[in-house]
Amino acid sequence: MSVEMNQIRRVGLVGAGTMGRGIAQVCAQAGFEVKLFDAVPQVAKQSKASIDKALVKLIEKGKLAEEDRQVILGRIHPCEALNDLFNCDLVIEAAIENLEIKRQLFKSLDEGCPEQTILVSNTSAIPISSIAALTAHRKRIAGLHFMNPVPLMKLVEVIQTPVTSASVIESLLGFSQAIGKTPILVKDGPGFLVGNCARAFYTEALRLLKECIASPAVIDRIIREAGGYRMGPFEVIDLVGLDVNYPSSKALFEDSFFDPRYQLTSGYKLLVEAGFLGRKTDMGFYRYQDGQPLAEATAAAEHSTPAGLPKSAWLWAEKSAGLEMLTTLAKKAGVVVLKEPSPGALCLVAPIGRDTVSVVKQLGIDAGSTVAVDTVYGWASHRTYMACPGVRPELLAQASTLLSSDGVVASQIHDSPGFIMQRFQAVITNLACDLMQQGLASAEALNQGMKLGFNFPQGPLEAGDALGSETVLSIVQALYNFYEEDRYRPSPWLKRRGRLGLSLSTPD
Ligand code: NAD
Repeated sequence: MSVEMNQIRRVGLVGAGTMGRGIAQVCAQAGFEVKLFDAVPQVAKQSKASIDKALVKLIEKGKLAEEDRQVILGRIHPCEALNDLFNCDLVIEAAIENLEIKRQLFKSLDEGCPEQTILVSNTSAIPISSIAALTAHRKRIAGLHFMNPVPLMKLVEVIQTPVTSASVIESLLGFSQAIGKTPILVKDGPGFLVGNCARAFYTEALRLLKECIASPAVIDRIIREAGGYRMGPFEVIDLVGLDVNYPSSKALFEDSFFDPRYQLTSGYKLLVEAGFLGRKTDMGFYRYQDGQPLAEATAAAEHSTPAGLPKSAWLWAEKSAGLEMLTTLAKKAGVVVLKEPSPGALCLVAPIGRDTVSVVKQLGIDAGSTVAVDTVYGWASHRTYMACPGVRPELLAQASTLLSSDGVVASQIHDSPGFIMQRFQAVITNLACDLMQQGLASAEALNQGMKLGFNFPQGPLEAGDALGSETVLSIVQALYNFYEEDRYRPSPWLKRRGRLGLSLSTPD
């Protein structure tokens, strides 16, 4: 029998680096006794000193009472040897991300700790089953994946291997709540849940860049301003470092047996090999000076040359709501709305999931007169428009003027099925659907995990429901039809719900 939640008193931490220190702090603040061990002498003591500094900051901000400082510090006990942790009720391993080191640590802990002690790893991405390979008592082994910075991030992934006992999971869910975290239950596997689902956020942006649909600054800005994401993917990668993001993304691609959904680009590899690692080297997807992005790198969206408004335009949209938006804008700007396309006049179209060329071919209209605009994302905050190759420059410029005539910023991109945001969100939701199909977690856990663990504005299934499951399916299907690549194959989970028009959280 493993210890139950209410029997956990002493928590051992193996590894007192960034994560070990943060976990020790939140445990001690929640009233647990903490034993802290690090392979490098003095590190555990230094970590206790830096926890003290963090507590002082909390006192200065009025978030902690002065009298609690010494009580909390009194619960943290730096240790000299791993053996000192053997009498803990729960041991959390937060040593460096190295499979062999973690396997040996778990072997020693499994041999040294009484059978009821719960043993967990805080690994970012190594499957727990693999870390537990040299142990004899596997039922008590699980994952407890905290997010960085631990004191601020609410989410904890509780990772269950095929043999972790239900009582251990119960204890870990209760323990996570007791230290003020929101736990989600996740099945063991590469990248777990948040790390896995987050790959679509990076890989679709990389794909857009590879195809020269727009620059990193434009892609990031559209994802922020039209999509509501707090940061764009290239900003995030530059912040965490290409040397951190690239290997973990590559590992997931390899661990998935090269599923093209996780595929990276040679342009990304080139930056890493050149040593352009993001903010830390003043160069990544952006250029920086003294840690600040250079103005040219964050320059406003790309525009075609300013021109006057078109006198008239023919409007078409995939959905009636889109046509209404186009009509209202044109009328407000005093542009005559034509009943039929007319030679020399602008054709302004609002497709869903398709590029301009596909719409031109379907409608039989003139490629040189057609400009497409996204009415699904960013209509009120940041518009995205694109045109066929060979579009007449004066018509493109007129469209640009019309699209920003009410003061909304409009960015021009190159022709793309699903513009930027439609395909970006659809690809993320499609991967989330596939993780549901694989039974990785519940729909609620998936949505909550991505909001709390990765700052998504909405859970990926919630964002799909906001669009409508049929619409998400139509975008992914259109991408698949256009590219004819497995990367864009719709997940069976999405297909079934999209065909029936059901919520993406509907269980099987
Ligand atoms: P870190 O480098 O800051 O700290 C790791 C510590 O482990 C170091 O102090 C090192 O001396 C110690 N260590 C190495 N081998 C040891 C051993 N055999 N026994 C005891 N201590 C040992 O790393 P970190 O960022 O704290 O990451 C720790 C773990 O948490 C990794 O598995 C990492 O993947 C995971 N993680 C990190 C983050 C993050 O953003 N930093 C987020 C979630 C999970």
